[in-house]
Amino acid sequence: MSLPIFEIEDQLRSILSNPSKNCRIVVEAPTGSGKSTQVPQIIIDSGQVEKGEIYVLQPRRIAARMLARRVASERNQKVGREVGYQVRFESVISRDTRIRFVTEGILIRRLLEDPELKGISAIVFDEFHERNFFGDVSLARCLEVQETRRPDLKIVVMSATLEIEPLKAYFGECAHHLKSEGRTYPVQIEYCPPKERHKDQIWDLAVRAIRDHFKTCAVEGHTLVFMPGRHEIRKTVEGLRRASWAKNFEILELYGDLPPEKQDAAISNSTRPKIVVATNVAETSITIDGVLLVIDSGLERRSAFDSRRGITTLHIEKISQASADQRSGRAGRTAPGKAIRLWSQRDQETRAQATPSEILRMDLSEAVLLLKASGISDIRNFRWFEKPDPNALEKAIERVTQLGALDDTEALTEMGLEISRLPVAPQYGRILVEAASLGCLDYFAIVTAAAQSRPFFLSGKGQVDRSDYQAAGDQSDYQALVRAWQQASRARFDRHACDQIGVHGGAGRDIDRIARQLSTVAKRMYPNQAQNREPDSEQIADILITGFSDRVAIKNNSATLACQLVGKRRGMLEKGSIVTKIPTPFIASEVIEIEGKDVQVKLDYCTSVSEALLQKHFPNDFSEYNGGIYNSSNRRVEGRVETRFRDLVITSKSSGEVPEAEASRILAEQVFNGELTLKKWDRKVDEYIARINLLARTFPEYEIPEIDDDAKMLLLEQICTGAFSYKEIKDRPVMDELTNWIPGQYYGLLDRLLPERVELKEGKHSRVFYVENEKPKISVMIQHLFGIDRTPTVGDGRIPLVVEILAPNQRPVQVTEDLAGFWRGSYAGVRAQLRGRYPKHDWPEPKS
Ligand code: ADP
Ligand code: MG
Repeated sequence: MSLPIFEIEDQLRSILSNPSKNCRIVVEAPTGSGKSTQVPQIIIDSGQVEKGEIYVLQPRRIAARMLARRVASERNQKVGREVGYQVRFESVISRDTRIRFVTEGILIRRLLEDPELKGISAIVFDEFHERNFFGDVSLARCLEVQETRRPDLKIVVMSATLEIEPLKAYFGECAHHLKSEGRTYPVQIEYCPPKERHKDQIWDLAVRAIRDHFKTCAVEGHTLVFMPGRHEIRKTVEGLRRASWAKNFEILELYGDLPPEKQDAAISNSTRPKIVVATNVAETSITIDGVLLVIDSGLERRSAFDSRRGITTLHIEKISQASADQRSGRAGRTAPGKAIRLWSQRDQETRAQATPSEILRMDLSEAVLLLKASGISDIRNFRWFEKPDPNALEKAIERVTQLGALDDTEALTEMGLEISRLPVAPQYGRILVEAASLGCLDYFAIVTAAAQSRPFFLSGKGQVDRSDYQAAGDQSDYQALVRAWQQASRARFDRHACDQIGVHGGAGRDIDRIARQLSTVAKRMYPNQAQNREPDSEQIADILITGFSDRVAIKNNSATLACQLVGKRRGMLEKGSIVTKIPTPFIASEVIEIEGKDVQVKLDYCTSVSEALLQKHFPNDFSEYNGGIYNSSNRRVEGRVETRFRDLVITSKSSGEVPEAEASRILAEQVFNGELTLKKWDRKVDEYIARINLLARTFPEYEIPEIDDDAKMLLLEQICTGAFSYKEIKDRPVMDELTNWIPGQYYGLLDRLLPERVELKEGKHSRVFYVENEKPKISVMIQHLFGIDRTPTVGDGRIPLVVEILAPNQRPVQVTEDLAGFWRGSYAGVRAQLRGRYPKHDWPEPKS
């Protein structure tokens, strides 16, 4: 009970007991201070929230579970009584529950079903710095609820690292800021980058770093290793278990999917020195006591959504500087410690200061739907804590509309309402609604559940793989999946039995649990219908297409796994998929960009879909094209008749010759879109265009037209005149067409007004860089600028140049548009910094 958080207990109690209007509290205290475990208890025990529950929002499921267990045990109770938790598809609560740890999906849905938040007296947003998307949205909704219907609701935001100002601005005057400095000890940081010549894996580096450390230092305290994911954790643990020097250490893992006993083992007290290998759950969410050494891979797995392509990405990314500091800080909680970073200091300096918040990286479809369902009609002007990217938001609205969840005035439809009640992404919600209407809910609950859990098929191991579950006539990968799952279910997901049949028992059990919950929720919506029908191939496609019409794909030819997807996207079909053998288009339910040896968009869980079926669902999305196309395999323009679903070519037949003008236009388009390049369209050409456009904009009196996109296209068509293939155009001249752009009577105007070089002083010239939509720039070594007080200009003095000032080693030290200001201001600092390094150069005194 000596945790630092108790320093602010009295303040917290007094704010709670003086219920000013709109109680909003920000608690800032270092990790391990006792925020997550104590603040909810302080609130409950303050007696100020007589009735009602406290919801504590956690960004990770593992943290919600572990904290609930911890707080329950601090109160000498079993978890699920006074203290419980609820995460997606799992809830351990009872009627007596007063403190409920939840994840964000739970909270946002609670807000949806019960906008008054009946029975909730306080909401604590923990780890707010992580800025999880639904956390942001929920906070906005809670503020609104507090301002309108629930003035007594208490809102607490907690974090170890917070930028307090934006939050204060967002909360308004009613914000109370409580800060505890906590207790932290210095941590010595050492950089230990991989050596060039060794091709070491990150886990080898980590194991070696621990070994080297303990060669010279006595074993004291525990060691915490950060790895990006399970795979790397396992490899590290294997490496440690093989090492003879590590015999006396207890070696443990910590990550989200681990069974509870193992999670607890990783953080429980131990007399033997421990090495805990963890994901970023141990960064701020979970504290392991007595850590004196941190080994940091500097990496994390971060999921994001590429809204342009509509693809979810799962990449291993470099952590930000802020994360690295948090991780290092874990070694200095009980005594001075040490952190070894497996990267270079130079690398560190180039890293982002903080991780971009999730709202800038997520698929916004689910948010759009949930906000609409909670009655917010103007999503674009929602009171976002941080506004999402407007393009991503538009794309999300479009996708949700495509599902039939919004009508063409963007109002929620009946269908949209139904989808919003299902606790899964809207695409899956859509297929569940469709499946329910056809009596196939049980089957599709399994399909959907499989998409929410760990991989079910064991990869690479054993004799059996997923193709062994395929049967004659199958047209969907889900058929094999469901068959295998049913077999595992008959074996009661026994681990040994499941290993034998090539599937993951634990994943099978998760699928079972999730599927049951989904069925329960969905069946409430369709009470009078049996839902155990097993769909045939055609029906599976019929149902899936309602949710995944943006994932229709077709193989480039029969011999390849390379595919085209609607929306001009490309991907690689998983080689074990059933549709590799079927020539029709197909639906790829999983489209993920994965970073492995290289970055690849993988298409998996595919289902063949006939043209007729696509026609049936989306008659308006079909078009016929008869004309020229560019064939990238022989690099020629050819005549073709094509049937297209949106922009995806479903069938294509030759139709002979193409008129010359059409051919040159098509080639020009390819160049314009960057699919083809002209050798002679080089930097010079771009610079020339930038100059002409700058001239046109700065000197409208000459009435020279700008070279905009239309003009560029016209120019390209001229260049491509008479050609039918890339070969004919690739070496054609470009500059000739351009030099005629400025009318003859203005000969010499461009070179006079926007010259390629400017004179700085007697005999000293500098090249001017012109880039479209940027100010023209010169780049000059500082010694050549001495004595020049006025910023050089072009355009008859109308355009001051941006001056990039270089150090003697040609590296930029400053960029300025006001040279005089530079000499008066920051020159002194630049001089002080550079003079020591370049003593032989001239460094005149700054003028005062
Ligand atoms: P914060 O949220 O400020 O990071 P916590 O409330 O999570 O801090 O933790 C406070 C202290 O409680 C930790 O330093 C740790 O010693 C202890 N603690 C928290 N959870 C557990 C647990 N599950 N088992 C053992 N000790 C724990
Ligand atoms: Mg915490």
